[in-house]
Amino acid sequence: MKVEVITTGTELLLGEILNTNFTWLAQELNLRGFDVLYQTTVGDNPARMKEVVDIAAGRADIVITSGGLGPTRGDITKELVAEYCGVDMYMNLEVWNHIHDLLSRRNICIASNNEKQALVPSGAIVLHNAVGTAPGLVLEHGNTTFIMLPGPPFELQHVCEQELFPYFEQRFPHLGIIKSHTLKVRGIGESNLAEMLDDIIVHQSNPTIALYARHGEILVRLTAKAPSAEEADALIAAMQERVEKIIGPYVYGYDGDTLPEVLGKELLARKQTIAFAESCTGGLASSLMTDVPGSSENVKGSVISYTNEVKNLVINVSKTTLSKKGAVSEWLYLFAGDVTAYYMTRSVAATLLHGMKVKGFYEASVQAKDNRAAAHVCLGNWMFYAPSVLGGGKKRAKAQFDAALSSMPEGCRPLSAYTTRDQIL
Ligand code: AMP
Ligand code: MG
Repeated sequence: MKVEVITTGTELLLGEILNTNFTWLAQELNLRGFDVLYQTTVGDNPARMKEVVDIAAGRADIVITSGGLGPTRGDITKELVAEYCGVDMYMNLEVWNHIHDLLSRRNICIASNNEKQALVPSGAIVLHNAVGTAPGLVLEHGNTTFIMLPGPPFELQHVCEQELFPYFEQRFPHLGIIKSHTLKVRGIGESNLAEMLDDIIVHQSNPTIALYARHGEILVRLTAKAPSAEEADALIAAMQERVEKIIGPYVYGYDGDTLPEVLGKELLARKQTIAFAESCTGGLASSLMTDVPGSSENVKGSVISYTNEVKNLVINVSKTTLSKKGAVSEWLYLFAGDVTAYYMTRSVAATLLHGMKVKGFYEASVQAKDNRAAAHVCLGNWMFYAPSVLGGGKKRAKAQFDAALSSMPEGCRPLSAYTTRDQIL
């Protein structure tokens, strides 16, 4: 069933409002097995609207319009479609009574132009609009079904859910449904991911697979078409298993999951807490984590040490380290005890995670005998994991690092003094 959606309104073309009616309709229609193949946006101009209605009727089975059903002279959709179909309009008393009731309940005087909203094209089915004055309409013309919906998003959605979709279920019972499931991926680039999934991508049919790169993550969307939701779910589950066998370690969540939410849950499950030592990010990492409800369970606190002065005074990075290594660590040379980022993290791990009063880094090392505090230095998708804030030289650091590898979160790449440049690049 080929569908074209025509959204009307000059404000859409001026970029003044977002076309949310289209995105909502497209999702709902696809879900119900309709093929949404075209969308057009046109201003409130009779000649241009007639042109797009004519084109849409020529290439789609169902033409859905949104907007232009209001009481003013600028609202022309219904008049224009009726004229295109060659039918007259009549005053529909049920609609008129509803408008009357609705406005008097809201203490609004009825205006003469409200009569226009009670006019219905002959032969049209009325889709009752309980929350507004303009009803939706279904009008058949030749092989085309015109469906006119009110513009305000709340009214459009209400009319669809209460009237249009139940009507579709009766009229088109065998369309099946389309369902999507999204895997959220981090820690790998789009081209590498595409290469790993190449075999599946090349041989895809149902479900289909699509990659969408976004800021800091990639979405892998699996979409299945099936007669019922259960069958679509089964198709998706089988495909997901195949995909996760290949890229599982990089998948951090699904659909609406966010990274801070997933991290928060993971920390809660492991009974671990987190603290941040932030510099260039100015508190962004802490802010993302604390935006999640219930984050006080696992976020201890943070130090935003933006200047060298604060790095030195508050989190004990020595002046020598700052002058020798600089405020921003070179990630290629990041290894235990040798860069500013590492000292920042160790100090925050000792003070915020373990409540130690430290005046200097050496004291923190001595006090942190219980070996529990872990320091993670994160740069991009790389994570340096130092299991303890204890000092003890490279030999001991290597032993701790090796031991920590087994408890590394999946998908996280270890980086240490023993990671070679070739391994990184
Ligand atoms: P109309 O029926 O065209 O006068 O539209 C009534 C109101 O609904 C407009 O003022 C917009 O705020 C809103 N509206 C109309 N079309 C859309 C659309 N495609 N997406 C989102 N809002 C819309
Ligand atoms: Mg309008």
